[in-house]
Amino acid sequence: MRARNDFDIIDSHTHWGPSMAMGVTVSSEELLRQADECGVDRIVVFPFPSTAIADEGIHDRLLAECRRETRFVPYYTIPADLRPVPSDTCFKGGKWHWVRGVPDAASNYQVLEDPRLDRFIERSESVGLPVVFEEELRFTESFVARTSSLQLIIPHLGLLGGTPEDFLKAFRRRENVHFDTALASQDTIFHFIQEIGAARVVFGSDVPFGTMKRELDKILALDIGDEKKRLVLSGNLKRLTGIGHEESSGPRA
Ligand SMILES: [Zn+2]
Repeated sequence: MRARNDFDIIDSHTHWGPSMAMGVTVSSEELLRQADECGVDRIVVFPFPSTAIADEGIHDRLLAECRRETRFVPYYTIPADLRPVPSDTCFKGGKWHWVRGVPDAASNYQVLEDPRLDRFIERSESVGLPVVFEEELRFTESFVARTSSLQLIIPHLGLLGGTPEDFLKAFRRRENVHFDTALASQDTIFHFIQEIGAARVVFGSDVPFGTMKRELDKILALDIGDEKKRLVLSGNLKRLTGIGHEESSGPRA
């Protein structure tokens, strides 16, 4: 039974498939079960970073799965050699995850000196898809200083790369920097929306590290009005990825 609510909802941050690092697998069925439980319409799926590094073939399997299950929206994990999201595929975004560093702990600052980085930024700007970007604050600041048109989404309101308050201060005036809400507290989410506006905050759950229902309930309970909720729940991500335009005429099944 699929839960209903008044909003079109896209979860902008989940992990799909096997995790080499954790020895678990998140199945399509599990993601769809969670989505149906709380009324999520579409689900952005990334491979686990450890798996994408060990086996690039995971991307082909992810694309095949997204052709079969059209509620899935695939993202591409940026590899160590800094290739951008391929533009000739169905990927709708990229995931930059502590490239060549220690995930969730330490950025590798040599990446900022890599001669391939300028080309990565240039090509990513022309592909025009958003990149979920996770590094330490200082690394993120150096990266952001090099682009004003690449659309970035910092996961967890910056929780893993530093503190949300420091990230907010650093990027308050950077219109191309967005934040996802996964695993952040409801108070912090509210604070971000007050400070930088609902147009730069997107809903995400980070399944399997969070659950869709719990993360979604935080957004639904915010006292911000329906207009802003619509932006956070799907409007912003549709704008960033271009999804949704293809089906704007006619009712959804
Ligand atoms: Zn995640």
